[in-house]
Amino acid sequence: MAKKNIPYDQKYYDPEIECMPRPELEQLQLERLQTMVQYAYDNTVYYKRSFDAAGVKPSDIKTLDDLAKFPFINKQTERETQHVGSFFGELCSVPEEDVVFMATSSGSTGVPTVSPFTQEDFDLWQDTEARLFWQAGMRPNDRYVHGLNFALYVGGPDVIGAQRLGALAIWAGAIPSDRLIFVLKQYQPTIIWTSPSYAWTLGQKIKEKGLDPRNDFSIRTIIVAGEPGGSIESTRESIEELWGANVVDFFGLSDIYGACAAMCEAKDGLHIVEDQILVETVDPVTGEVLEPGSVGELTYTTLMKKARPMIRFRTGDIGYVSTEKCSCGRTHARIHVTGRKDEMFIVGAVNVFPSDVEYVVRKEPGLTGEYSIRVYDENFTTRYEVSVERALGSDEPYDQVSKRVEAALKAHTGVRPAKVIVFDADKLGTSSEHKAKRFIDERESAK
Ligand SMILES: [Zn+2]
Repeated sequence: MAKKNIPYDQKYYDPEIECMPRPELEQLQLERLQTMVQYAYDNTVYYKRSFDAAGVKPSDIKTLDDLAKFPFINKQTERETQHVGSFFGELCSVPEEDVVFMATSSGSTGVPTVSPFTQEDFDLWQDTEARLFWQAGMRPNDRYVHGLNFALYVGGPDVIGAQRLGALAIWAGAIPSDRLIFVLKQYQPTIIWTSPSYAWTLGQKIKEKGLDPRNDFSIRTIIVAGEPGGSIESTRESIEELWGANVVDFFGLSDIYGACAAMCEAKDGLHIVEDQILVETVDPVTGEVLEPGSVGELTYTTLMKKARPMIRFRTGDIGYVSTEKCSCGRTHARIHVTGRKDEMFIVGAVNVFPSDVEYVVRKEPGLTGEYSIRVYDENFTTRYEVSVERALGSDEPYDQVSKRVEAALKAHTGVRPAKVIVFDADKLGTSSEHKAKRFIDERESAK
């Protein structure tokens, strides 16, 4: 696919799709869904078996709501069917020779799952990525540094989306900080994509070198993904302040696509590419479909992907969907992810997510912003303790910092932590090169 020649001041990459009135968009989704469900049934061992077992057939889809009659799939389904019968297994709908690319999940919660793409899938993905990059403000005169891991990771090839848009792409990858700082200083790129925790760490390292992220570099937009930080206002604003740049949150999922959703300038949720992905919110326990705006488990159906259609994939992400028109003019729904189902903890009947804790830790003064959470059971009750770091140069007594953070956590989440432990700056050991591990789950249910 060739680069599109779009005037730089044109707001939308593809106005016809991005601003399509919802009734038309839903009609387009319905047509694509009908085609996809039929395709999946005809070409995929797993769907043929599971639809037959559930007593549903592709012709049952007469409206979008009819999708609710069809069975769910999840990570477990992927694990159980991959490599069964053929290399890509029973969820794959094409022969292996039609697959040109595969990504895998991180495997952080079990066996990694493999995600195959045909050439057509891959091209469409990169065109979608270009659309989301344009939405984030990227133009052909930008220099873009791809500071993401390439190895097996679905975010890796997104660099091609920047090239498709016409920007200058610099394929950095997950290189050591010193090397990346050299790249940023030497080539003065304007846009970088990395994780929110690494954007923060990198800015701090630059300051330690006596350089100023705001003035010695040209970064004006930081695209972030992979962790919730980009959608937590206090985290986003801390990174923006540090770099003097705009932070834009992106979302992708190896099971679905590299380019699923991105923030617009309204920064109120992430527009999901609804022409290609159908989103449902379901009750995490019963699986019942919830109204837009209700909090539940986000569930996706791919409408275009040929190598491996994903029909009703339950992500384990908890959040909500808003379908009202955004102030940016786009009509595609916005997803708001609050946390992971398996990282939610219930303390005294209150649901708490790690992102709630992060909000407080990034907003309270006198802290570095690093933290870790330990959740454990004591006398059959779930408790949580939070570790934080006191900012460099602060002489506030440790117990005072602890009490202050404890009160702020109680005010924001509704439940007081069992303990807040205060470390000196850089002593917590959570700030990793690219993706931080901050949630320690010692609950009986996690064992
Ligand atoms: Zn918008």
